[in-house]
Formats: sequence, structure tokens, C-alpha cells
Amino acid sequence: MTETLVNLSTPGQLLARTARSYESLLRATGHGTTIPGHAMRTLEMQINVFKDYYTTDTSEPLFRFDSGAFDTRLWNGSRWFRRAGRPSAAIPGTSNHGKGRAVDFQGLGGFDTDEYNTFAREATKRGWDNAEGKRVGEWWHWNHNPDTDTFDYEEDELMAAKDEIAAEVIKQLKGQAGKVTLTWATRRSIAAAQGKKIDDIPTEMALDDVLSYAARATFDNAALAIEVETLKAKVDKLAAGIKVDVTVDETAIARKVVAELAEKLK
Ligand SMILES: [Zn+2]
Repeated sequence: MTETLVNLSTPGQLLARTARSYESLLRATGHGTTIPGHAMRTLEMQINVFKDYYTTDTSEPLFRFDSGAFDTRLWNGSRWFRRAGRPSAAIPGTSNHGKGRAVDFQGLGGFDTDEYNTFAREATKRGWDNAEGKRVGEWWHWNHNPDTDTFDYEEDELMAAKDEIAAEVIKQLKGQAGKVTLTWATRRSIAAAQGKKIDDIPTEMALDDVLSYAARATFDNAALAIEVETLKAKVDKLAAGIKVDVTVDETAIARKVVAELAEKLK
């Protein structure tokens, strides 16, 4: 299977399987990167970064390891030395950033901080590791290995889509004049299903129309279409104070709906 580079929801690109994992990790932890070169880095960008971090001019202030040794790289027929105060960089053409499998994540705060440890748990589940980063003191540099990544993204994406629809149902419960405001992602799904442009899809729509689009398998996952159909009926029952049975799969939505209703009834 050849993988293509795809645009992320944040600036930048990654190979398709890594991008899918990145989006899931971003949803779960809130950590990603807003700097394009910190995900996929083209050869030109790698060369620019490398020349910024390393120099052939040994009269400049240079970085030294605790051992006193310089950090050197052989590239383009010359020996390059890492400048003082710069992070390490791979030789252009050999970086995992160039392969679209690495990301420098923002906001992790250092090795072994709470942010780092929470992030590491979620990242590890999704086939990411910080091994290469650890070797060079970079807690932010993580590589994704799709071959060992067994995370269930379909389930994860289904839950994210359901959360969105649940949020729209909840808005309706709050009596917003029978209309719901569509998120960009929902409009994109509807547009894709109808072969239209996103701009052709109104930003506001009657709830029943939204649900009927979903019911006609607007979304790739047929299970979502079925659940959306039953969701509104369940929400109606909840609103009327009737207890409804929910499957494990629907627990997150039910929890949200109940919490919102409790808030509304205060
Ligand atoms: Zn990196």
C-alpha cells in the first residue's frame, strides 16, 4: 500500500496512517504542533534546519556534550558541528521528519512531567515512541510506527463523530428554534456524501435533516448511521425523564446528554 501525505487539522502534513494516529492523539491529549516543519519536513526544510543548527565554521561557539565531545555530522563532503544552544538535527535526507512519521509535539514540558507522562501513555497506545528523542535529549520528538500500531481508530473516530452529533442534539434540546449550527466536520461529511462543495452546505439546518443525512449513511461507518437514528429517540426519552438502556458504545453520549439535561433542569 502506498501512503500519501495528507494535510493535518493543524498546519503541516504526515503520511496517511501516521496522520490518522496524530489526529486521534490530538483529540485524546490536546497535544500536537502548530508549526508545519515540526511534522513533515521536506528535504529543503531539513537542509535549512540543519544549516541553522550545524556549521562547518569551528570558530563559532559550538555545542559540547557533558563528556566535552562535539556533536558532529558528516554531510555534503564536510564535517559539521552543532552550534551552541541548538538542538540536534539529523543529516538531511535521513530524518524521520522527512519520511512523514515524526512529530515534535508542543507543550510536553520536559521528560517525566505530568504532561509528558499522560501524553506518553496515550502515544504509546497508538504506536508512537520517544526513543530517538530520548537519545538526543528531546522529549518533544516522537516517531510513529504504523506496523506495531494496533489502536482501534475506527472506534475512536466513530466516538468523535458521535460526540459531535450528540452535541448538536443537545443544542436542539436547549430549544434553539428547531435549527442546529453545523460544525465544519459535519458539513464536510454531508458535502462528501452528496458530491457537493462544503460551501454549498448551509451552516444551519433543521435537526431532523441532519439526522436524516446521517441515517442515509452519510458517514462512512454504517454503524454510526444506525446509532444516530436511535439517538434522537433516546434523547427524547431522557428529556421526558424515561430511563433508557444504553450499550457500552453509547455510554459517552448518554453521559453527556444526562449531564446537559441535569444542567438545564437546575
Ligand atoms: Zn523532531
